Amino acid sequence: MEATGIGKYSRCGRALLLLLLMVLAACTSSPSSSDKPKTEYVIILVIDGTRMSETWDSVPGLIPNMSTVLKPKGAFLPNFLNDAYTYTNSGHAAITTGVNQPIDNYGDEFPANPSIFQYFLKQSGKPATAAWIVSSKDKLHILANTSRPGWENTFQPSVNAGVNGPGTGYRMDSLTLIEVKRILTTHKPNLMLINFMEPDGFAHAANWPNYLRGISRDDRYAKELWDFLNEDETFRGKTTLFITADHGRHLNGIDGGFVDHGDSCPGCQQIYLLAMGPDFRRGTVETRHTLIDLAPTVARLLHFTMDSLVVVPRVDTTYVTSPADSAQAALGQDSIRLEIVMDTTVLKARVIEELFK
Ligand SMILES: [Zn+2]
Ligand SMILES: [Zn+2]
Repeated sequence: MEATGIGKYSRCGRALLLLLLMVLAACTSSPSSSDKPKTEYVIILVIDGTRMSETWDSVPGLIPNMSTVLKPKGAFLPNFLNDAYTYTNSGHAAITTGVNQPIDNYGDEFPANPSIFQYFLKQSGKPATAAWIVSSKDKLHILANTSRPGWENTFQPSVNAGVNGPGTGYRMDSLTLIEVKRILTTHKPNLMLINFMEPDGFAHAANWPNYLRGISRDDRYAKELWDFLNEDETFRGKTTLFITADHGRHLNGIDGGFVDHGDSCPGCQQIYLLAMGPDFRRGTVETRHTLIDLAPTVARLLHFTMDSLVVVPRVDTTYVTSPADSAQAALGQDSIRLEIVMDTTVLKARVIEELFK
């Protein structure tokens, strides 16, 4: 009697187990949510040169909107770094190309690798108005192009930078935000990078109060942007917003402290990432990531692929003996010539998997 009961139960159990296995198989064989992102629009907001001590290390402080309103809506990475070249053009190029590269900081050199804008426009077949760089710093027009043969001058995104384009000077962030909203409304772009410059600009002028004011304003503008996206039919529920910095600033006591940046001190390297969107989980992600990881993460969201091989310029020092008749040769000295060599390497950037649901 009892044995029969067990037998019946077992058959029933086996049937249940089989059903469970079928359900599990169906779940695992169909693409997971991360394979089919809900995101159709990606915006990367870069708040230029903000140090942790004035932002995420003392919250709410100057960033009440980001730390108390936006942060609960997304994932926050406190262990996010620019662990390479901690100045504007390199930091931004790391974001857009997924490659760390020492690059001229005065707007005269393009990144050596194609950008997320170019990959996206090429593979989606969309017009240039589907990808934008909207920047307070005019020199960031360089992000729209690359020096890579075969990619140079192709599939370039639209640019709205500086007062009135390259060479016209920096624009206040409030005006950049107006342009951002206008472009979002008019063109509904799928991909946009925004640069806000006020904290960095005023810090370089050694203006502590205005550096702080810049942080506080950009915090407000970040919230304004998020609200704008959520009030718009097109963008609501389909937009991912990343908020980060291109680099920090020197720790107090190092090379003038907050005024400058550019080395590998923790103040310059330590930044943050706040990531909000329909495909992302909420909460803190402790894993260490760096700026270059944003590019493949955007690629995952917008369904494009990046080349697995990239080029990285390397400084090669070559010693050249001076000509016999030069003054240096008479003194027995050599002159030094710096040569830049392009190394081909594997793309090191990796998708920030921990963000995905
Ligand atoms: Zn700077
Ligand atoms: Zn530093």
